[in-house]
Amino acid sequence: METIDGESFGEKYDLFVCLQCGKCTGSCPLSMRSQLSPRKHVREALLFDNEVVLDKEFLWDCTTCATCRLRCPRDLQPVEVIIGMRSILIEEAKVPATVQEALESTFKNGNPWGRAPSKRDEWAAELSLKSASEGAEYLYYVGCTPAYDPRVQNVAKSLVRVFKAAGVDFAILGNEEKCCGNEIRRMGEVGLFEMLMEDNVEIFENYGVERIVTSSPHCYNVFKNEYEGLKAEVFHYTQLLCEKLDNGLLKLTKELKKKVIYQDPCFLGKQNKIFEEPRKLISSIPGVELLEYDREKERSVCCEGGGGRMWAEATATGERTAETRVKEAVALGAEIIAVACPFCMLTFEDAVKMTGYEGKIEVKDISELLVEAIE
Ligand code: SF4
Ligand code: SF4
Repeated sequence: METIDGESFGEKYDLFVCLQCGKCTGSCPLSMRSQLSPRKHVREALLFDNEVVLDKEFLWDCTTCATCRLRCPRDLQPVEVIIGMRSILIEEAKVPATVQEALESTFKNGNPWGRAPSKRDEWAAELSLKSASEGAEYLYYVGCTPAYDPRVQNVAKSLVRVFKAAGVDFAILGNEEKCCGNEIRRMGEVGLFEMLMEDNVEIFENYGVERIVTSSPHCYNVFKNEYEGLKAEVFHYTQLLCEKLDNGLLKLTKELKKKVIYQDPCFLGKQNKIFEEPRKLISSIPGVELLEYDREKERSVCCEGGGGRMWAEATATGERTAETRVKEAVALGAEIIAVACPFCMLTFEDAVKMTGYEGKIEVKDISELLVEAIE
């Protein structure tokens, strides 16, 4: 029987108590459109044999949204079984070329986007930000996608403007920053993840970082829940800005007469129970009417951007979940879909184009809405 870290899958993930009830598969946003079936994979993992995994290209369809984990009546972790199976695919070099390139780039460049480390801080060239060596109350950990993606760079820039308006004392690592590893672990590359974790903890310690604030729920999640030896407190930016709002330091004065609907990111909402802070920030903007999806908070539907899906061509067919969400938002009368995650930004912007709703609905990060309310 194949083992993972010297244990069988059944032992490692305590799978012997699985009821085969199928709640995990029933709740999986991909199972209707793909051969992905967490219930079946748990069963296969119990009877595990290397060959069972090797032809399963659809294992890369999993977004690691963790809905299967939340729905399981036995508190099992089907998502971790899938990540473990991906680790075996990596060991056997049965990896889609795009995933392989993302992993190699992360090893070589410190980011999965194939970009040069020396260009990581280009987005901030005009902003005269403090560097971590100068010391600050917060380290703003920017993340790979806000640092390099031209659309998401505007989120980082907006956040800087809002931090300054709210009097947040912060610094950045600039070109010393490297990938947090959240997606790397979920793609199954445990060794690379551990290397990134050790490097990042060392950098944070060297600069005496006590508080980290992130743009991305994915970076937040991995620092908060998975980094060993990290002493710093970790915040998603919506938490920090909500505190500044409550203390009267973030003043939202300009009116924005728009109907706004909020997409809960899986790594902020479902996986870390941060539901209220993003909503409070949006609804505190004068003139904004906050709408809700029927399926919101714990029941929210994944955008399909997590778990390495930004680098893996899905085998899933049919309408993507982000397209379904855009159609639902339009039907509810929303003019803006507010997001709080770089991957939601990219998947939803793509979905607006695919559904033909350009000009009818916009996608904005909460930080971009806040900029409109302070300036
Ligand atoms: S929900 Fe839990 S108990 Fe039910 S089939 Fe899935 S893993 Fe097994
Ligand atoms: S983590 Fe999400 S996408 Fe992956 S198997 Fe579980 S429910 Fe499906």
